[in-house]
Amino acid sequence: MNKIRVRFAPSPTGPLHIGGVRTALYNYLFAKKNNGTFILRIEDTDQTRFVPGAEEYIKKSLTWLGMSPDEGPDQGGEYGPYRQSERKELYARYAEKLVDMGYAYYAFDTPEELDKWREAMTAQGVHSPKYDHSTRLSMNNSLKLGKERALEMINAGVPYVIRLKVPENETIVFNDIVRGTVKFNSNELDDKVILKGDGLPTYHLANIVDDHYMKITHVIRGEEWLSSTAHHVLLYRYLCWDDSKPQFAHLPLLLKPVGKGKLSKRDGAKFGFPVFPLSWNGDNPEDNFTGFKEFGFLPEATINFLALLGWNPGDDREMFEINELIEAFSLDKIVKSGARFNIEKAKWFNQQYLLGKTDKEFVELILPYIENADFEYEKESLLKIAKLMKPRIELLPEIVDKAKFFFTDDFDFEEKIVRKKWKSPNNEHVIEIRNKLEGIENFDKKSIETIIKGYIENNNLSFGNIFPLLRVAVTGTTKGPDLFETMEILGKNKVLSRFDAAFDRFERIVS
Ligand code: GLU
Repeated sequence: MNKIRVRFAPSPTGPLHIGGVRTALYNYLFAKKNNGTFILRIEDTDQTRFVPGAEEYIKKSLTWLGMSPDEGPDQGGEYGPYRQSERKELYARYAEKLVDMGYAYYAFDTPEELDKWREAMTAQGVHSPKYDHSTRLSMNNSLKLGKERALEMINAGVPYVIRLKVPENETIVFNDIVRGTVKFNSNELDDKVILKGDGLPTYHLANIVDDHYMKITHVIRGEEWLSSTAHHVLLYRYLCWDDSKPQFAHLPLLLKPVGKGKLSKRDGAKFGFPVFPLSWNGDNPEDNFTGFKEFGFLPEATINFLALLGWNPGDDREMFEINELIEAFSLDKIVKSGARFNIEKAKWFNQQYLLGKTDKEFVELILPYIENADFEYEKESLLKIAKLMKPRIELLPEIVDKAKFFFTDDFDFEEKIVRKKWKSPNNEHVIEIRNKLEGIENFDKKSIETIIKGYIENNNLSFGNIFPLLRVAVTGTTKGPDLFETMEILGKNKVLSRFDAAFDRFERIVS
């Protein structure tokens, strides 16, 4: 069997949507599983949609996720160049060849004429007018005018495009690894433009010429390209490339978390979660997006989450590191139905991967946030804080709020609990506990625990009345990590001064 070669072929028209990242991932996994080649091809033939920085963004995203291409614009390779704009001549040659063979034709209709024509057709009750077998002979093209006249016009400099001549009344059949046999009636297909007025190919022509030249064995891409595949199948046939035609696998759509339809870039802003791997700054504020990375997701969690959006290993297992994914991956386990984008699940994965980090690794991860918040810290206590906070963090930036009290006295109190509990005799007991803590020589969690628990038990007090007040006094919140360990990390002086400041604030709150 030929060596497996797959390509991820994004168009640099903006930031790479997370659905595109999943396509890249499945291509990557399939290549690695089969000792194949993972190729990055930049499909930049649509000059009108070209966005500066997008190619860079795509590459950075792949790097962040650890999916480096084996061949691509930066890596090079035997089948380059890997940017379509650098392969222009190749496509034009094939477009002309198709015209010569009678499978394509020159068309001179201007965009204005086409708009008018569409309007007129719609007025006559045609729902979505198509340039196809039923209408092509009434249009301004070489089929209607004759080839000679068409060439005269071309020589005279009249702008033209080349369109594929889709046959009438044919069932176009192809096999899709995910969907099985797929059939299209050729009467439903339009005569797609394959070469544009600017001499550049459209996606359809460039895509199949490159897949052929780059010896692509499997085309793995989003479901939105399924109907284009019918056109591609015709192109393969007309160019006599049927024998080397790749196999197709169309991936299910990513669906909105709730309701109907495809996950869109606007859903991110709407629901407050990322739909792009990295942050992106567009021309307008509504085109600024925060990425998975900047939301605080780890690359390995992002990968694990995406891998299971549309593929399953055949059992209940959920945790897969990249090597395990490569081992387990197969195209026949890709599901047909759309996959709902559930950000809570992504967070869960992130938490699992955070829990798998050593305390030291976790420190490295949170350090940028701590520094960015201008928190002062001692290296040693950071390790202890990391250990305590690790199980309490889903997304890295949460560390700033959740661990704030380790670094600064400037935090809010949960006033409700103070109002409810700061009264006699609770308050006298809390003050008494503070004084007992002052007497501890070796201020470690064991001694702290012995003092506090001992006091509560010996005086037959209810934990529920005392403990929340101790917590709020020291950390501002009732929801923090283990209080005894927290106190040990803060140290005796800090804990006592927190108590003293808190008693004043408590009084003010209840008065
Ligand atoms: N350039 C297309 C895109 O942006 C590639 C589709 C394909 O993989 O064939 O998604």
